Amino acid sequence: MIIHIGFDDIDSPKGGCTTHLVSKLLLKWIKERKIELIDYPNLIRLNPGVPWKTRGNGSVVIRLRVSNYDEAIDLFEEAVEYTESYTRAYYHPQHQPAIGLYIGEISNYLKWLGRKAVNDIVPLDLLFRILSKDKNRIMWKSLGNKKRGLVGVFSGIGNRLLEGDYTFELIAYRVEENYGKPRKIDLESIKEIDKQYGEDLILNFDYEINRPLIIPHGPDPVLFGLRGEEPEVLRKSYQLIKPLEPIEQAVIYRTNQHTDQHLAKIPNLSKAYPYRGVWVRVWVYDKPKRIIGGHVLLKVTDGERIMDAAAYEPTGGFRNIVEKLHPGDEIELLGMVRPPSSIHPATINIEKIHIVTVKPIIRLENPKCPICGARMKSMGRGKGFKCPKCGYRSTTITKIKKIIPRDLKPGWYEPPPRAFKHLMKPIKRFGKEKQYFPKIYKPKQFIWIDKKLVY
Ligand SMILES: [Zn+2]
Repeated sequence: MIIHIGFDDIDSPKGGCTTHLVSKLLLKWIKERKIELIDYPNLIRLNPGVPWKTRGNGSVVIRLRVSNYDEAIDLFEEAVEYTESYTRAYYHPQHQPAIGLYIGEISNYLKWLGRKAVNDIVPLDLLFRILSKDKNRIMWKSLGNKKRGLVGVFSGIGNRLLEGDYTFELIAYRVEENYGKPRKIDLESIKEIDKQYGEDLILNFDYEINRPLIIPHGPDPVLFGLRGEEPEVLRKSYQLIKPLEPIEQAVIYRTNQHTDQHLAKIPNLSKAYPYRGVWVRVWVYDKPKRIIGGHVLLKVTDGERIMDAAAYEPTGGFRNIVEKLHPGDEIELLGMVRPPSSIHPATINIEKIHIVTVKPIIRLENPKCPICGARMKSMGRGKGFKCPKCGYRSTTITKIKKIIPRDLKPGWYEPPPRAFKHLMKPIKRFGKEKQYFPKIYKPKQFIWIDKKLVY
């Protein structure tokens, strides 16, 4: 039988990381129990807009085949024990580590939950209503005093990434004595892998600021994470990269990162609910405004409703594109809906924009004098024009239409790499979307101890 074991909310401000815990447990299970995986470990990112999210807002799922029910329970209990001892080292009252076991093929209810948790809000009572439908094949354990982490656990389990798009990430972990110290990696080697394999890697380097993006900050055990289209390009890159400190281990995950799975196409703005990721076609309603803090605000309309959208300061040069929009331009906006506050209405936080049509700007100008060529003056509505230079008057001459060229081309636009969040799909991935992953797949060459491949 097939089972799925999910983990969530292991991270805390003091360190620790869900993927790190799972990578260690996975290594142990492969060594000691010879477990039979049916997929790479999955790293599932959830709705980045939820107010109570964890730092990375990701859950990790191990999917494997076991011979019987007892073995499933046994593995689950070991996972709970392992997590307890791991989190004891990083205990933080706000965190609610959770672990869940699901036995068998994923039910349609859980699949639905898995998708919903990526682009919408899942209240706890909804979670428990869904779990009650599958109660005979579920076990869970919540190590905190609340149960929020279970949403991530079971949503991750439900989001199997078999039919839609996915990518891969190789995460390399530091040895414990280096936690909290500055990370040491040869920067040239990161540029080198980007030069050689950049086409199939995702967001390694931001050349605008000359900074690598694969190195996190903070006390967690991750030394770097390489993201790419296929495991092969990650293996090759891992051979080239030169860490200047020891690596405990490295693991390849299959993920929904950079797939835009958090965005749902909606027909109009009536469906742009707070905390939801949306993709909607609208028209620019009002001239964009740059406000204090450098954010660019935009009003858009679907013909019936008007809504705010914003490109925030960290999106850098992307704001200049948004600022060039003009009323009447037809655009597709992709982004998260921020809930209203006391000073702002609900706002679409723009992650990407597709400019569909750029409307020419037509300006009416006073005509030039046919006698001397000077610009004529209006004598009032319907009263014609008078030349201020030579005095020529006319009631038959009319204003001239002048088309102002637009400094903006239709097409897709995105923020610089540093402004990308986990789920956002870069434009360069367009056309590379995957459609399928086998239900049963035996991963190979995906775990290293230091730089030595072990499985
Ligand atoms: Zn004149």
